[in-house]
Amino acid sequence: MKVFKFGGASVKDAKGVKNVIEVLKKVGNSDILIIVSAMGKTTNALEIVVSHYLNNNRELKNSTDFIKKYHIEILKDLFENKQHPVFEKVNSLISDMETTLKRNKSVQYDYVYDQIVCYGELIATTVVSEYLSLAGYTNNWLDAREVIKTDDIYRDAAVNWEMTQQNITEKVDKKGLTITQGFIASDANNFTTTLGREGSDYSAGIFAYCTNANSVSIWKDVPGVLNGDPRVFENTKLLSQISYEEAIELAFYGASVIHPKTLQPLQRKEIPLYVKSFINPLDDGTSVKKGLRLVPHIPCFIVKKDQILLSLSSLDFSFIVEDNISEIFSLFHAYQLKVDLIQNSAISFSVCLDDKFNNFEKLLSHLKAKFSVVYEENVSLYTIRHFDEEAIHSLEENKDILLKQSTKETYQMIAKQ
Ligand code: ASP
Repeated sequence: MKVFKFGGASVKDAKGVKNVIEVLKKVGNSDILIIVSAMGKTTNALEIVVSHYLNNNRELKNSTDFIKKYHIEILKDLFENKQHPVFEKVNSLISDMETTLKRNKSVQYDYVYDQIVCYGELIATTVVSEYLSLAGYTNNWLDAREVIKTDDIYRDAAVNWEMTQQNITEKVDKKGLTITQGFIASDANNFTTTLGREGSDYSAGIFAYCTNANSVSIWKDVPGVLNGDPRVFENTKLLSQISYEEAIELAFYGASVIHPKTLQPLQRKEIPLYVKSFINPLDDGTSVKKGLRLVPHIPCFIVKKDQILLSLSSLDFSFIVEDNISEIFSLFHAYQLKVDLIQNSAISFSVCLDDKFNNFEKLLSHLKAKFSVVYEENVSLYTIRHFDEEAIHSLEENKDILLKQSTKETYQMIAKQ
């Protein structure tokens, strides 16, 4: 069995949905589990719904109408017969979402977020599944929440592997064609949880691990993994092969092409991952597997924007690392701030932080009580894996550099945006 993942960009309109069939025609269509993300920018649009809802904003209705209209337009392009049951199905998912909001009593943002944002993937998979059926590709639609079980840390849930394995063994048919969602799962009380933004790749890794799949293919609007994001860096080149370790490093430093958690389950069972173009599905793309670190062996450039550079020093000249580091890290953990880079001296300590959950202000009030604190928001963290002099020179040019450091393989620099 193979696992395929089609991201939001690949199904952003009717043409994209039709192209899923073109890909299947070219690469085969049986014994495949297909994960489909929310269409286009639907997850962002649903985030707006959640924030309007929790802020009692009058725009709430407009924001849900926008989502409805966007999907209905796509349906109209795909299904000539306007009486096709898919119209009813999509409408009823949207009314479920509205009912969930009406009945909800919780003010907890992360919980409400997961109960609402999941509709993007539920609608997308319904549309794709119905369209494939219409085109003669019989398939099963699977609610991923029935099989992927997690804890109840909403928006960043951790997988319960034992239960997930058991459910997938029992409920996933390895034959034929299955269509399911990425990103969403459920907790012990069957409330919806999510695995973090861009988490559908991770879902592909989970399904592949639990079904002992032969491979995972992620279908993209780029030819594969490039040595830099083409929207940011010039003259990027395709990497034809990357080892699991190297891919984990690249993803960790912020290469957005693969979700960082995706590789771990695949590596454990040595399941190869292919990143390929949905426009030219027969091209080789990039394979991530055991073996050579990087082919071709060239510098890889990564940028993470909107980071925070935080520097702490002790008020009493005590050694910061020995005396305070564990406390500082428990605070980062408690406030869900991800640490991207660390640099320290005897009495000071600098970190680059990713504040995905908007908790930095709360963290600051704790830190200010104990340390002298300096920080700069909206900085970019640049990383070059396998750097050389020329690569560093081209990156540093015209930047206002705040900090840099390098190890044998990795050069990092923080600069103002
Ligand atoms: N739809 C989710 C997101 O946009 C998950 C995914 O696409 O991977 O973050």
